[in-house]
Amino acid sequence: MATLADARIDIARIPHPAPVPSATRMQAIADPGFGKVFTDHMVSIDWVEELGWHNAVLGPREPISLDPAAAVLHYAQEIFEGLKAYKLADGTMALFRPEKNAKRFNESARRLAMPALPEDAFVEAVRVLSLADRDWFPEVEGGSLYLRPFMFASEPFLGVRPAKQYKFLVIASPAGNYFKSGAPAVSIWVSRDYTRAAPGGTGAAKCGGNYAASLVPQAEAIERGHDQVVFLDAAEKKWIEELGGMNLFFVFDDGTMITPPLGGTILPGITRDSLLMLAREEGLTVREERYSLEQWRDDATSGKLVETFACGTAAVVTPVGRVAGHDGEFTIGSGGPGQMTSRLREKLVAIQRGTAPDPHDWVMRL
Ligand code: PMP
Repeated sequence: MATLADARIDIARIPHPAPVPSATRMQAIADPGFGKVFTDHMVSIDWVEELGWHNAVLGPREPISLDPAAAVLHYAQEIFEGLKAYKLADGTMALFRPEKNAKRFNESARRLAMPALPEDAFVEAVRVLSLADRDWFPEVEGGSLYLRPFMFASEPFLGVRPAKQYKFLVIASPAGNYFKSGAPAVSIWVSRDYTRAAPGGTGAAKCGGNYAASLVPQAEAIERGHDQVVFLDAAEKKWIEELGGMNLFFVFDDGTMITPPLGGTILPGITRDSLLMLAREEGLTVREERYSLEQWRDDATSGKLVETFACGTAAVVTPVGRVAGHDGEFTIGSGGPGQMTSRLREKLVAIQRGTAPDPHDWVMRL
C-alpha cells in the first residue's frame, strides 16, 4: 500500500454514488447557519505505526465505525482545525493561509503525542474537498465553505499511552454570513470560577478537550445575559487571555494596540497573526503584552482605551461593547463598533475576498 511521503500526496477519488439531489442541496444552502449542513464528500487518511500515513481517499461522507475501546473515546486524544474556503470577487474559490492551519495542526499533534501530518497533505486534503463539493458553496453574501480537518486516536486499547493508530478526516459545511448586518458589538463575561488553560497545559493546542472544558463557563456567560466568556490566566487570575474561541485586541487613544502574548496558554490565532501585520502596516504601534482586567477597567473608564475587539476565522473581527464580571461591569468607548475595529475588519475581509491586493500572498486560489 502506498504511504504518504512529504513529496507525494496522492488522494484517491471515489465520487459519491448518490449525492444529495440538487434541489435539496439548494434549499439546504439557502440559509445554512453554521455547522448544521454537511457536504457530500470527506477526505480520510489513516496512520498506523508500521506504515505511517496511507490510504488517502476523497470519498462519500458517511458514518465511521469505531471500536468502543478506541482511545479517543476514553482519553480524548483528538485535535482539529477550522478554516474557510471563500469565493473571490471573480468567482474563484480560495483558501486563506491554509499552510498556517497545517502548521498549527502539527503543533497540536505534537502536544497531544500524535503523529505529524505532512503539511502538503493537509493543504491538499482541504483543497480537493473544497473543489469536489464546490456546488455546496452558499451563494449568500459573506457565505463560505467551512472546512473541519481533525485527527483522533482510533486504536482499540485502554492503556494510557499514545495510540498506535489514528484517523485524519476533513469534512465541510456550508456557512452563512456570521453576522447578517455587519458585526454588532458583543457583551462578554469574565469568568472568575473557571480558567481555560494553565502554564504547561494544552491551551496552545486546538484539542477537543479544551472546548469541552469551556462549555460550563460559556453557559454561565449566556445565563447571565452575555454573548461570550473571557478567560483570565490560571496562575494569578489577573491577566486577560482570550475568549472561548477568539483572540482579543485592545486599542488605545494614542495609536497603540495590545494583544496578549502567546505563552502556551493562548491559541495562536491565524486571524490574530494577520491583524498584527495589518495593524503595523496601518501605522499602529502594536505590542504583544500582558494586560490585566483591572487595567482594562481603568483604561476604559478614563477613556484611554477606545476599542476592544475579538478575532477568529468564524466571525473575522467582532467589537466588544460591554464587559461584566463578579465585580461589576464597564463599557468600551460608545459600546458600539469602533473605528479601528471596522477599518481592520474591512482591510482583512477585502484581502480574503480578493477585492484588495494581497502583498503577503495569503490567498491560495483553488
Ligand atoms: N482562540 C481559540 C480558543 C479558538 O478556538 C480560535 C478559533 N480557532 C481562535 C482563538 C482564533 O483562531 P483563528 O484566527 O485561527 O480562527
